Amino acid sequence: MSECMQCKKELTYNEIGAHKKFINRGSTSFLCKTCLARTLGVTVGDIDEKIEQFIQQGCTLFTAQREF
Ligand SMILES: [Zn+2]
Repeated sequence: MSECMQCKKELTYNEIGAHKKFINRGSTSFLCKTCLARTLGVTVGDIDEKIEQFIQQGCTLFTAQREF
């Protein structure tokens, strides 16, 4: 079980995947979508859209089961 390194929110599988994808694949601590979006200067909607695309591509860092 991981939590966001900034706001301590519990992370979903896809949030960890997004962090690996957007920041660093080798990361061992992670940001939630909200903090990640703020860090990247994009919206949470943008992150969701990208996650959706990665799922379509079959990227194993993400799951279509959203709350896993
Ligand atoms: Zn956070």
